[in-house]
Amino acid sequence: MQTTADTKERLRRLNDYFSSVVGEHEQSLLSACRACDRQRASEILPTLLAFNGLRADARQVEESCGSAPLIPTYHIGSLLLEEGFREVSGQPEEDAVFATGIKVEANRYTVEKLLRFKLARRSAAYVEADQVSMTKVLVHLDRYGHKLLLTLHIHPGAGAEATNPSAIDMDMHRRLEQGRYPAIGAVYSRDGYIRFYSYRREFRVQIYGKGVTHEHDNVYRLTDINTRTKSRIQTRRVRLRVPNRQAGKAARI
Ligand SMILES: [Zn+2]
Repeated sequence: MQTTADTKERLRRLNDYFSSVVGEHEQSLLSACRACDRQRASEILPTLLAFNGLRADARQVEESCGSAPLIPTYHIGSLLLEEGFREVSGQPEEDAVFATGIKVEANRYTVEKLLRFKLARRSAAYVEADQVSMTKVLVHLDRYGHKLLLTLHIHPGAGAEATNPSAIDMDMHRRLEQGRYPAIGAVYSRDGYIRFYSYRREFRVQIYGKGVTHEHDNVYRLTDINTRTKSRIQTRRVRLRVPNRQAGKAARI
């Protein structure tokens, strides 16, 4: 079976061959020009251009060849989803957490670690993240070469319909995308549905492990969560602030 490494090696050799042919023809063309041999030069030029085009095509194929997906893909385990659900649904108030992980290669991420930040206010109506705490988390990630990959929060209500992101949620991710954070969002319902979303960025999620079923599109359901938590259906919403890198200051969403 031909592996990606084999293919890349063959493409590299093809590029080397095209480069050597192009180099030879360039030398021949130069000699013909120096000798004012127009006839010879006109014969060489089309071949030179043809091989130069082939070399450019082969380089392009070589660069795009590999296992890296064209669309950003997030690999997430069911354990992390369950842990995230426990984090944000463990109390009657609304809650949110971040998650980071590893950029395995271009456009491929594993989401592995939940990140807590302080909440500035928490009431029956909404929860607001502490801006300083949230910024500290992002700075800490930057310092270690990691990125915010996923935001998770919970909505009141049950069922897949409860997981539709609100205008506030979409605005938060619009800012994240403008700030070049490679982050997507996830909204839980109180009975364990989870929907992944972004503002405009195309993405894919790949979920691993047991205890989660794929419902449709980017909607999944945790099937083995604590039923006591399931019953805590509240009517609150989350309000977060995201640092606006372009403006260099915090922006409320
Ligand atoms: Zn929301």
